[in-house]
Amino acid sequence: MTEVLAIGSFSDVDAAALRDDLGARIVDSLDSAAALHEETRATVRAIAFKGHATFDGALMDLFPALGLIANYGVGYDAIKVADAQTRSVAVTNTPDVLNDDVADLAVGMLIAQCRRMVQGDDHARSGAWADGQEFPLNRKMSGGRVGILGLGRIGREIADRLAAFKMELHYWSRGEKQTPGWTYHDDPVALANAVDYLVVALVGGPETEGMVSAEVLDALGENGVLVNISRGSTVDEVALIDRLEDGRLAGAALDVFRSEPGIDPRFAALDNVVLQPHQGSGTHVTRAAMGQLQRDNIAVFMAGRPLLTQVA
Ligand code: NAP
Repeated sequence: MTEVLAIGSFSDVDAAALRDDLGARIVDSLDSAAALHEETRATVRAIAFKGHATFDGALMDLFPALGLIANYGVGYDAIKVADAQTRSVAVTNTPDVLNDDVADLAVGMLIAQCRRMVQGDDHARSGAWADGQEFPLNRKMSGGRVGILGLGRIGREIADRLAAFKMELHYWSRGEKQTPGWTYHDDPVALANAVDYLVVALVGGPETEGMVSAEVLDALGENGVLVNISRGSTVDEVALIDRLEDGRLAGAALDVFRSEPGIDPRFAALDNVVLQPHQGSGTHVTRAAMGQLQRDNIAVFMAGRPLLTQVA
């Protein structure tokens, strides 16, 4: 009898723990889960989910005993939460344990963009430096004006780090927050107008779809650099690429994309972008902690105890 089903591409360590600790059966995709025999699906009470494919009500209906979808990751926009709620299916995620890594990557990408570290690496490796070619001067980041679009858990960690770089902090959230003197803006365009660097740390999903609009990018302006570690859906990517190509925006550093992993090929032709393969939380330590928290939520659910990190 399969009471716990794991769907997705899990590391060997996580897969072993899912099997050993929770007796989970593991399949690689939602399609494979849907293709399981009806009798198998009927016994599933909890699903450990890892992936970005849409998990909607029609899929949930294939598991009539389902009570929990435990997501691997803090962003759970792939799961149709309203569908889960109407079916009395709880949803959990893995917040906080990944804040440091995602914030580290955001700051690292911003520095890499300003200081042209990718091009500098190539300059040193290629022999251009040894041949006597000078590496062009680049852009100072410390002391600049930065805006955080979405001062949540990760946004706050990014802001704290950038404050240590002596930057002037501005932010947008749905409401003003307790901060050490950072400037609140109630409108993303006003935020972008006030800064040279804009770091996006919003949730994904329909509520934030395209919040970094052409208008926001134009407010950021020709000296502006956009950093996105949230979801590709938060940015008008066509408007972004247009502006990076013609100089209406100075640069971008992106860990997430609309059509990832098959990113728009126009990005690869740009010299003013730093591109990362959605690896914000991708360290050994953090991925292990995410897997543990996902399993812990399932374990307490199966034991009839309160969920640890319930989002719906
Ligand atoms: P969080 O604490 O919930 O913060 C999310 C931010 O989004 C908050 O500022 C929140 O506004 C804002 N927000 C939430 N609902 C909104 C709505 N309906 N309309 C407008 N804004 C809304 O989440 P977190 O833990 O910081 O994670 C943020 C996101 O980072 C995740 O959802 C995920 O998409 C992304 N992420 C990416 C990676 C990566 O590998 N690149 C890794 C982890 C997470 P308030 O401040 O007003 O609450």
